[in-house]
Amino acid sequence: AKAKGKNQVVFCNEEVKAQTTRRLRLTNGLYRALDRNELFVMYQPQMCTETQKVCGFEALVRWNNPEYGLVQPLFFIPLAEQTGLIRPIGMFVFEQACRQLIAFQQTCQERLTMSVNRSVVQLKDARIVENMKKILKKTGVDVHALQIEITESATFLDEPILLERIFELKQLGLSLAVDDFGTGHSSFSRLKTYPIDQLKIDIEFVQGITTGSDKDKALIKSIIQTAKNLGMEVLAEGVETEEQLQFLSLHGCDKVQGFYFSKPLKVEEIIANNQQIAF
Ligand code: C2E
Ligand code: CA
Ligand code: CA
Ligand code: CA
Repeated sequence: AKAKGKNQVVFCNEEVKAQTTRRLRLTNGLYRALDRNELFVMYQPQMCTETQKVCGFEALVRWNNPEYGLVQPLFFIPLAEQTGLIRPIGMFVFEQACRQLIAFQQTCQERLTMSVNRSVVQLKDARIVENMKKILKKTGVDVHALQIEITESATFLDEPILLERIFELKQLGLSLAVDDFGTGHSSFSRLKTYPIDQLKIDIEFVQGITTGSDKDKALIKSIIQTAKNLGMEVLAEGVETEEQLQFLSLHGCDKVQGFYFSKPLKVEEIIANNQQIAF
């Protein structure tokens, strides 16, 4: 037998070591990222399907790391969660988004909305509501134009602490969206007991429109129908083609977001294209 192949083990160790080193360096870097202004927020337009005009934005955080370049949130948000840095980072993103919403409302269109992502880990933080409240007060933003997106996971509606948070956030006047809806297998019937304002159809199903997946199409139709029945708004994300847009529009999807209209933009790009973007 090749036994436990010494080489193999060594190889694995090297690989793991390299990964660990990279993680460590990034984690150390993350501690300084906020102070050094390396974090910033990009904004992706959300469109009203019927009018095809921008009705709001989703705030998406980015990290400009001096050594590794642009680091994606899917990589550094988990690091931030493990280190506790997610608290200051989350507050930074929220404050930026509030201030930017005010600016967009003043220069572009006064009824624009702003959607901010919050992970389950963030929502478990006992101080999150209090901290967000401070920022709301400090910025003077119209809280009713703000939305929080929470990614659907299998259990998220079963955790009492999350439910409590959700109700607290609602009490502040914020709207609530379930992100990546359809991927977490939470049952439709449970949804009705929660104060959810919007379902965001996951990109996976939207892409299924183009690949001709009848199952994905059926799922989209049933998500839209369910949302309507429960009095919720529905937004499809990851819309990249005319065909996808047509399908979603035909079946009554309220809002759309994706590269077909625009990728996430820097504030300067939005300001510069102000005239070309239909608000
Ligand atoms: P998400 O909330 O599902 O965000 C949508 C992701 O899809 C974004 O990636 C966006 O750039 C990308 N996207 C948008 N339109 C299209 C499209 O038409 N086609 C394709 N292929 N992709 C599209 P991004 O910005 O890398 O964000 C990844 C995830 O990181 C987000 O997924 C969100 O869960 C998380 N995230 C981003 N910012 C924050 C934040 O401030 N806090 C927390 N907790 N999570 C964040
Ligand atoms: Ca999101
Ligand atoms: Ca999503
Ligand atoms: Ca996602």
